This record gives sequence, C-alpha cells and structure tokens, in this order.
Amino acid sequence: MQRIDNYYTATVNDTTHYPALEGDLSVDIAIVGGGLTGVATAVELAERGFSVALCEANRIGWGASGRNGGQVTGSLSGEQAMLKQLGKTHGKAAEDFVWHLRWEGHDIIRERIARYDIKCDLKTGHLHTAWREPDVQDFLETVEIAHSYGMEDDVSWETTESVHEMLDTTLYHGGIYNKRNLHLHSLNLCLGEARAAASLGAHVFEQTQVLDIKGGRNPQLKTANGIISARKIVLAGNAYHRLARKQLNGYLFPAILGNMTTEPLSDELAKQINQHDVAVYDSRMVLDYYRLTADKRLMFGGGTNYSGRDIDNVAAELKPSLVNTFPALKDVKISHAWTGTAGIVMNRIPLVGKFDRNVYYAQGYSGHGIATSHIMGEVLAEALTGTLEKFDVFAGFDHHRVPGTQWLGNGMLALGMWYYQFKEKLAD
Ligand SMILES: Cc1cc2nc3c(=O)[nH]c(=O)nc-3n(C[C@H](O)[C@H](O)[C@H](O)COP(=O)(O)OP(=O)(O)OC[C@H]3O[C@@H](n4cnc5c(N)ncnc54)[C@H](O)[C@@H]3O)c2cc1C
Repeated sequence: MQRIDNYYTATVNDTTHYPALEGDLSVDIAIVGGGLTGVATAVELAERGFSVALCEANRIGWGASGRNGGQVTGSLSGEQAMLKQLGKTHGKAAEDFVWHLRWEGHDIIRERIARYDIKCDLKTGHLHTAWREPDVQDFLETVEIAHSYGMEDDVSWETTESVHEMLDTTLYHGGIYNKRNLHLHSLNLCLGEARAAASLGAHVFEQTQVLDIKGGRNPQLKTANGIISARKIVLAGNAYHRLARKQLNGYLFPAILGNMTTEPLSDELAKQINQHDVAVYDSRMVLDYYRLTADKRLMFGGGTNYSGRDIDNVAAELKPSLVNTFPALKDVKISHAWTGTAGIVMNRIPLVGKFDRNVYYAQGYSGHGIATSHIMGEVLAEALTGTLEKFDVFAGFDHHRVPGTQWLGNGMLALGMWYYQFKEKLAD
C-alpha cells in the first residue's frame, strides 16, 4: 500500500522507492518493519558493520512513524511503572537509569540528523501544560527533579500568566517549559534514516510483507517472493503486524489516534497563538497536543479511539478542541486530517524481548515513540552485538497479558481508558 495522504506525505522531501524482495538473501540481521524502530535499528547495526536487510510491507514510514504529532518528548512511556518495578531492588540507581535513558533518544536523533544531513525541520522547545490546578504540584516536583539532575537551564516552571503570554489561550494552570525536547517532521526523519542505512549497505525493501518468521538455529523471514536467512531477526512491526501471535498476543493494543493540520497561518497569527514556537501537550490521560509546522500550519492531535475502530471524521472531531484552545483560529481551514495506529501497553512500559532463541522484538511505546524507538534501536543493536545490560532490564519487566483478546478485541483497553477519562471529567 502507498502512504495515506497527510501533511507529512504532502511535504515529503525524499521520493526514493526501494525495491521489493525478489529471490533469496542471506544477512546477519533481518528486520521486519520500516518505521522508526526498524530504520533506527538498521542504522545502528549497519554502523557497527553488520549486514542488514529490512522488509517493509508498504512504504518506509507508512505506519505511525509517518503520521504522528512530531513531538520528541523527554519521557519514556511507562516510566512510573518502570520505577515501581525497578525501585524495589535498585532504589536511586533505578531513578538515575530511567532519567538518563529518557534523553538518549534525543541525543541519537540529533547526532543522526547532523551526521547524515537529514532535513526534517528540527526545532526545540516543549510546553507541558497543567490542565487542572491539582496537577501543578506534580509539575513542580518534576521541575525540582530535573534541576537536581542539572537541567536548570533547560527546564523551567511557567506560571499561569507566563503560559498565557506564550500561548493565546486561557486554558492552562501553568506548565513546564522544556528546551531540550524537540519537534520535527517525523516522516522525513524516518526516510532520512532509511537512506542512511542504505548508504551504509543495508538492503531496504518496500512492498515486501513478511508472511512468516522462523526462529531457532536457522532464522528466516518468509515473503511472497523470497526468503531471507539471517543469524537474528528483529520484529519492529508495532501495532500493524500480526506475526508471532502465540508469543505476543494480548500484550499490545492498537489505539487509533487522530491528527490534522490547518492551512498555513500568517506570520502574525502564528506568533500570536504560539510566541516561542513550542510544541504543546496537556496533562490529561487523553490529551491534546499541537505544534506549528515549518510552513506555519497548526498541527493538532488528540482524542483517541481505544476501541480499535477508525475515526470517521477526524477534522470534525478535533476542530472543537482546536477552537476551544485558540478561539482566534475559529475560521481557519483544515488542510489535512488523518489517523494512525499507536501500540498501547497496559502498564505503558515498552514491550521488548526475545523468543525462539533468535527473534528479538521492540514495540508498544504508548504514544511516545519518536525518542523511544531510537532508544530501543540502540538497546536492540547492543543486545544483538552481545551487550545485554539494557535489553535485559527491559525484557525483565512484568507485563500483563490480557487473555482472549482475539475475541474481546480492544474491549479491556477501552474500558480502562473510559474509566480514566471519567475520573478526569469528575475532577474538572
Ligand atoms: C496519530 C499519532 C500521533 C503520535 N504522536 C506522537 C508524538 O507526537 N510523539 C511521539 O513520540 N510519538 C507519537 N506517536 C507514536 C509514534 O508515532 C510511534 O510510537 C512510533 O512511530 C512507532 O514506530 P514503529 O517503527 O515501532 O512503528 P510504525 O511506525 O507503526 O511502523 C511499523 C511498520 O511495520 C510495518 N509492518 C507491519 N507488519 C509487517 C510485516 N508483516 N512485514 C513487513 N512490514 C510490516 C508496517 O507497515 C509499518 O510501516 C503517535 C502515533 C500516532 C498514531
């Protein structure tokens, strides 16, 4: 399949088509999936001198990586759950581990953009806004923690008044301004990394769906027109793959997220609504998130469908929240509206592990995947080249498997999310 029409596809800067696999091939590592997890892992491995083949069922960046909000957040999904599990035995060392890990994705992305000259509209600055007054205490504690790790210059608490000066809205009760966080054109990043991997000798295939994987002593990927034999396999198909159901079913739930962009705003209007050109997301469980693109459209995402069904009319669903946030945009036209599927994990800790001896997987970043996919690319590459420390930490986390999801669908997840939304409504 081709990529769906959206803002990213309309402004893509790399039109390379990679061939489909025809015939058999033998490599060190074979990767399933050409989103950020797949391409980031391919670059890591190719840089370390391994021969790599990557199979993408559709086009590179076809999935969530080419449809997301473009916000590179400084939090890993499932941080609290990780600390709870690790803290029991590792105390402060666990906090330090998680704190430092959360910034590694940013460093990899920055370094890769510079090294391979990837043009993806990189900008800095996030504002995490407090939706409710009671959220403020948690925010202040977060700022204190950041300062204790030496981030005084990067992270500051902004009062209600100061946030109202930065953004043309009265919705929030202050927020955290984080200058280390990034925002970017996610599809162009993904394509730039695929190009980097190919330039290092990786075989990149599009329109090449992996139909079956075999682990054990002689791992193989089977496709319609060829077989790839490898020493190890990486499964990076996230919410879109249906492989290894025996091992992975019931851990990851597809959630449909909506996203849209306005027509380009005038320079004055863009400055009026978002003085410092920051990416913004609020503190609700089901949140709104937005940022200005390079051509000054407002990209606005929010409202999540956890039922696994697609959203009928994304623009109609999201526009009221956009206007509620910025009344000044009430007459602005929506240029693109689309959906994508994110992989949600019950405790939000990324699902990382290995089965059948030689099949590794990383998936389910619960909406925080741009940085996390790069962290996991590094974790997987380290594991595949013999350094298992971080991989073992992730593979060791407990996850809840929801039995019978093939019959219940996303029912359990939907129920859980409705509960959280209901609690938030009561607290409003
Ligand atoms: C609307 C939306 C907004 C988001 N906003 C943000 C945000 O602002 N910030 C953030 O950090 N994260 C965000 N996310 C999450 C983020 O986009 C994902 O976590 C991340 O892109 C996951 O990357 P991935 O490579 O693991 O998966 P994907 O990008 O989904 O890629 C998986 C790929 O595997 C391929 N595939 C599947 N099965 C097979 C097979 N059998 N054979 C071959 N190929 C296969 C698919 O075609 C697909 O291209 C958002 C997600 C969505 C949907």
